[in-house]
Amino acid sequence: MNRRKANTVAVVAGLVALVLPVLLALRIAHDLSVDAVSAQALTLSEDVMRRAEATADQGTAAVALLVAANDPNRCSDANIALMRKADVASSYLQSVGAVSNGRLMCSSLGSHGAGLPLGPVAYVSSKGARIRPAVRLSIAPGVRMLVLEKSGYAVLVHHDLAVDVFTGHPDVSLGTFAASSRMQITGRGRFDPRWVSAATKTGPAVRFDGDNVVAIHWSREHDFGTFAAVPARYVSQGAHRIAESLVPLGALVGVLFLIPILLLARRHTSLPSLIRSALRRRQFYLHYQPIVELATGRCVGAEALLRWQRPDGSFVRPDLFIPIAEESGLIRKVSRRVMELLRHDVTAILAAHPELTISFNLSAEDLHSLHLLDELRELLGAKNMLPRNLHVEMTERGILDTDPARKMVHAIREMGIRVAIDDFGTGFSSLSYLTTFEVDYLKIDKAFVDTLGTTAATSHVAMHIITMAKSLHLTTIAEGVETELQATILRDAGVQYAQGWLYAKAMDPAALCDFVTSSGRPRNPAAQGNAHANGAGPALAT
Ligand code: C2E
Ligand code: CA
Ligand code: CA
Repeated sequence: MNRRKANTVAVVAGLVALVLPVLLALRIAHDLSVDAVSAQALTLSEDVMRRAEATADQGTAAVALLVAANDPNRCSDANIALMRKADVASSYLQSVGAVSNGRLMCSSLGSHGAGLPLGPVAYVSSKGARIRPAVRLSIAPGVRMLVLEKSGYAVLVHHDLAVDVFTGHPDVSLGTFAASSRMQITGRGRFDPRWVSAATKTGPAVRFDGDNVVAIHWSREHDFGTFAAVPARYVSQGAHRIAESLVPLGALVGVLFLIPILLLARRHTSLPSLIRSALRRRQFYLHYQPIVELATGRCVGAEALLRWQRPDGSFVRPDLFIPIAEESGLIRKVSRRVMELLRHDVTAILAAHPELTISFNLSAEDLHSLHLLDELRELLGAKNMLPRNLHVEMTERGILDTDPARKMVHAIREMGIRVAIDDFGTGFSSLSYLTTFEVDYLKIDKAFVDTLGTTAATSHVAMHIITMAKSLHLTTIAEGVETELQATILRDAGVQYAQGWLYAKAMDPAALCDFVTSSGRPRNPAAQGNAHANGAGPALAT
């Protein structure tokens, strides 16, 4: 996966990790609120059912009592006394009476003379009860009565009796309806016939139709059901309240998910992990930059420089990934790979040019490794390789850091491998250590070479370094030589070798072999005068 793709995946995964728990929290808050409102609606509907059923039971009992008395004169004093008795015995009934031709002839209140008109029957229940839901009697005009009539007797109940329960909310609808016809009998608040028309007569049920949470109960004995409808806004209010505590929790969970994703993404797209996978996938190879003898223009050696080509074709520069490999503890693996690649490349190069010297770079950490000497020994085991063919380059920092490092340099030189101080002049400012230290070459850093022939204040530093090196009998190699002028100044100052784009950039082993072969020949007018005859030139010598 390339870096951009990995980043995109990480961002998307991160967003999902963050957003998903929050959405989930909102969803849970909504569901919990629907549950809470549903429970409330069911409780209300059940309350109404309890009151309505008690009313129906008491009414049925009162009528049964009167029917059982079987008095031919239904408004006799004895029968009216029986009505009073039934009335008093029942907590829900307002009155009990006898009906004839739609008129209440007498009741527990006494005789009503010619009778009180009850109005039309709204419907007849499946049990034969004739129902008038809202009757206004002349003796109590302000009160609406529910009149249930059966077998010539009637019970009168306050219209609102069943629905007189505490709801906590003014806009909650409650009521009773006929189970057979699905007509509303009593109720308060709005009534939508669809609430009950679609309901099937099973156990208690609750349904959220988007506008209301509607709970329905069915009477086991009688032909009616009850409903309670709680408006949707109580669901959203409740969800909002629950979300206030759940959403921060969701966000927290999201962050907890996000952290490992980000860490993983970083691990996957960070340079160290890319270096690791480049090592596994063999994306590293070496190019060789010729080192020429300034006096003759002859190529006497080459520096192995690591190259990294990514699968997408792009290159990563060593001055970017080498420091990262050093910081992340991967440099030893990288150096081992360099030696492995060298071992492979040098056989062919040295077969063609046995005198050539190949230098390669080591880092400070390599000098502290107990395995380095073994690795170098193995490298020297390459076909055609002799110790004099091998140079190692290390920076001042690398060598001078510690005593073990100095000992390592000593051991390397004991093996016959020559040592160069790389980037000379950019590290420690004091040059005095050189007198106490065994190295073979100084590589003058490009930064100083760049100033040669210019008026820059630092231009004399290069000269100073060259003089120093001479007095210490060290051989100098100038790095980053780009112009003939620089080459001339360096040659005149007594610098023996140079490396730079003036001569060649780093190249693959085959190109290097060709370059070495042709380097002894006249190359350009400037080099012509100094060129030796064809043939193997002198190796990089101290
Ligand atoms: P270095 O060891 O100082 O290598 C010389 C660098 O200067 C190389 O850059 C080379 O291509 C560049 N160079 C040479 N002549 C010229 C020139 O005339 N003009 C300019 N502008 N540049 C020139 P490169 O290959 O990019 O390597 C950069 C650094 O990465 C190296 O500096 C070295 O410190 C490190 N490096 C490269 N390969 C390895 C390796 O195998 N192991 C270790 N530890 N470090 C390496
Ligand atoms: Ca170098
Ligand atoms: Ca250098």
